[in-house]
Amino acid sequence: MQKIKIEENKKIECSNQIVLFDNPSNIMISLIKDNDIYLPLLKKGDYVYQEEKIALRKYDHFPIFSTVSGIIEFIDNEKIIIKNDLKNRVKEYSIVEYPLTNYHKQDVCRLLFELGVRNIGNEDLEPYQKLTSNGIYKTLIINVLREDAYFYIELFQLKMERKQILEIIDFFIDIYNFEEVLIVVPNNEELLVEELAFLTRESRIKIIAMEEYYSLAHPRKLILQLKKIKYYQNSIEKGIVVFNVSTLLSIYYSLKYQRPQIKMLVQFTGNMWKKNCYMEVRIGTCLKEVMKKLEFKRAKEIILLKGSLMSGKNCDLENTIINVNTEFYSAWQAKEVYEEESCIRCGRCAKVCPIGLNPALIMKRYLKKKNLFRFGIEFCIECGLCSYVCPSNILVHKYVEEAKEIIE
Ligand code: SF4
Ligand code: SF4
Repeated sequence: MQKIKIEENKKIECSNQIVLFDNPSNIMISLIKDNDIYLPLLKKGDYVYQEEKIALRKYDHFPIFSTVSGIIEFIDNEKIIIKNDLKNRVKEYSIVEYPLTNYHKQDVCRLLFELGVRNIGNEDLEPYQKLTSNGIYKTLIINVLREDAYFYIELFQLKMERKQILEIIDFFIDIYNFEEVLIVVPNNEELLVEELAFLTRESRIKIIAMEEYYSLAHPRKLILQLKKIKYYQNSIEKGIVVFNVSTLLSIYYSLKYQRPQIKMLVQFTGNMWKKNCYMEVRIGTCLKEVMKKLEFKRAKEIILLKGSLMSGKNCDLENTIINVNTEFYSAWQAKEVYEEESCIRCGRCAKVCPIGLNPALIMKRYLKKKNLFRFGIEFCIECGLCSYVCPSNILVHKYVEEAKEIIE
């Protein structure tokens, strides 16, 4: 792996129009998610309806649904591939709208589980785990800060669907009795801040306008900044629930229509797409099908990332599948590629780490296969700052992330 530099791209912006990509030829559903195994309910050659349950998590039967109708073309222990017949056939079609006010806490948790509602865009507890019927809830934080450079999708969705967002927040206040709700938005969005403040006057919702700096959007950092509270594994230990806008909308529509989510909004950014855009796409669509639509420019030294420049993870041009873990892809052409040199023990990586880790020491121990416990590796937020500042061009964060995988 090498460190790269790209052209200055300060002007990259996303068009505010949503491009639709509704007819993938296949969809692929992974049967291994976050180290959990899912067992298929159907076999090769079976016909499957859109929104039909196709697999269940082995230990608790948390479901996965098909996002198209068609024939199961391939199935093994790792994935299911469904050939889309482009008919969008649904077994039981219903357009009933359920008022949120009819639900009790128990219904919310049960429905989020039964409809397989997942977090969008970040690795965290699933919504049904955060919104249990017996938790103690103090603060709800809606995080609209940018996770990385050129990441606009959360802000875009808040602007597009503010009514729905405020409706579900009001509902959560009613049934979970949150003491306060903080909607955290970048402070340069003055109009939005003013409008939200007006809409939420005389309620428990506070609009917090914050100056953004990189890595602040991470829940651990944000909670420390806002509430001066540290937590061990998840913020619900402290009665704090954090959602991004995409997950909140996913919960809203699932409860409102009692149907599983089959599509999601994804942002494509970088200097290698002809169009930088938001795209509505079926979950399970292959990235290469989308790329054709976006007129991807082929060139040498292309870096394709799930995410963006600081925290993005390299992904494979041919085999990447769009799923709820990633709502942002970026593609860049490298201007310069730097070779990795030896660590000079300058300490910059430790100085910059927002969590206070010593990345160089972790890297050294990882490479020497030494004991990795007691170094706080599990708290790494994978921000990439240690690699960014390293004068020896070492991708230090990759070593820390690999070490984290071992201890987890
Ligand atoms: S910043 Fe790079 S060179 Fe400096 S201590 Fe960390 S890993 Fe070593
Ligand atoms: S990626 Fe590096 S700087 Fe960021 S939290 Fe992890 S060790 Fe610290």
